[in-house]
Amino acid sequence: MNDENTICSTAVVYDKKNPFLSTLKRRVLLNKEGSDKETLHLELCLAGSGLEYRPGDSLAIIPANSRQVVKQVLETGGFDAGEMVELKGGETKPLGEVFATDLNITGITKNILKKYNAFAQSDKLESLLDPDNKAALDDYLGGREVIDMIADFPVPGLAASDFCGMLRKQLPRLYSIASSLRAHPAEVHLTIAIIRYYSHGRGREGVCSTYTADRVDVGDTMPVFLHYDKNFKLPEDGDTPIIMVGPGTGIAPFRAFVEERAATGATGKSWLFFGAQHSATDYLYGDEWERYVANGRLSRIDLAFSRDQTEKVYVQHRMLEHSAEMYSWLSDGAVFYVCGDASRMAKDVHEALISIAEKEGGKSREDAEAWVKQLKADKQYLRDVY
Ligand SMILES: Cc1cc2nc3c(=O)[nH]c(=O)nc-3n(C[C@H](O)[C@H](O)[C@H](O)COP(=O)(O)OP(=O)(O)OC[C@H]3O[C@@H](n4cnc5c(N)ncnc54)[C@H](O)[C@@H]3O)c2cc1C
Repeated sequence: MNDENTICSTAVVYDKKNPFLSTLKRRVLLNKEGSDKETLHLELCLAGSGLEYRPGDSLAIIPANSRQVVKQVLETGGFDAGEMVELKGGETKPLGEVFATDLNITGITKNILKKYNAFAQSDKLESLLDPDNKAALDDYLGGREVIDMIADFPVPGLAASDFCGMLRKQLPRLYSIASSLRAHPAEVHLTIAIIRYYSHGRGREGVCSTYTADRVDVGDTMPVFLHYDKNFKLPEDGDTPIIMVGPGTGIAPFRAFVEERAATGATGKSWLFFGAQHSATDYLYGDEWERYVANGRLSRIDLAFSRDQTEKVYVQHRMLEHSAEMYSWLSDGAVFYVCGDASRMAKDVHEALISIAEKEGGKSREDAEAWVKQLKADKQYLRDVY
């Protein structure tokens, strides 16, 4: 992160080393009973921090590991929680504390396996690390964590300092801000998908998402700082139309956008595409969208609930169904925003834009690609994908 991300309007600069301790005011489960998903709406207090953000910015949270995972790693590795270890910066702390807050004690990478095998000297690990065995390595890394590595390839007597030296630092996680400061003074809202899954005989948890769900109570504080994004921003001119595509937690910044535009009385048209699995359980902030449509703050909304019918329907399908209007809005200068899953959704949406330009603009594939590229260059097509 560069310096820009640590600038705020107060004398105090909050960052990774000096985070603001923000109190959790409210936590609401957005999915209804019966959903496969667990998405939380969090409201955090910024009072007294002087922190100011704009729609499109993100909040970084510095998580703590789960006590249970710390205990498992200590026990499986045969480590002593009270042993003092020196961190890279020179600070000395008990190992239990280092595991709880300073290191990522879950994620494994090829590099970690390599460093670990300098001690484990395992033929099987050696073979997995062979560049010719990439598929086998990927298979091992899939759904496995540090705990599996130390259980599968034990190293009796491994020094705590050597073990700590091979793990990565615990990094802050970013969350798109889901509120407008004008609508919620001194507050910041987030929309967090909680990661829990089962693999190779163990329950697994995403570190930061479950930290916000399980390890912080309402009234407790969590260490945070702002991450500014100068590109993913509403147009300066409130008359400019906007199109927002935000399935799943990708909806977060668009709640901030719509709140901001309502608060500033912006008159530009707005069009939201939202997608999730089931309308009955996963329509995140559904009541708010319906209200915004009814009072004209949101010009239109198109919904794609992939599992409400036999054939999967996603946001890009809804875009294609309304290709003529989409092309007309874009030709009129609408800014097109995409937020959420980078691995598939963002690519599918990009492809849909090209198809729309081919169909409605009568363009060749090549010209349609160039047109979409130009939208990006003109900052009329903005993405916040992860
Ligand atoms: C700019 C930006 C904005 C973001 N905004 C949001 C947001 O608004 N809301 C939001 O929820 N997230 C958002 N994220 C993602 C967020 O930062 C975290 O990456 C996410 O919450 C996971 O963090 P974690 O610590 O819970 O999981 P980690 O402990 O980091 O673990 C995540 C890892 O678990 C593994 N994994 C997850 N599920 C499975 C599975 N089913 N099977 C096997 N392995 C699996 C994957 O390897 C994945 O990389 C954003 C990210 C960025 C960069």
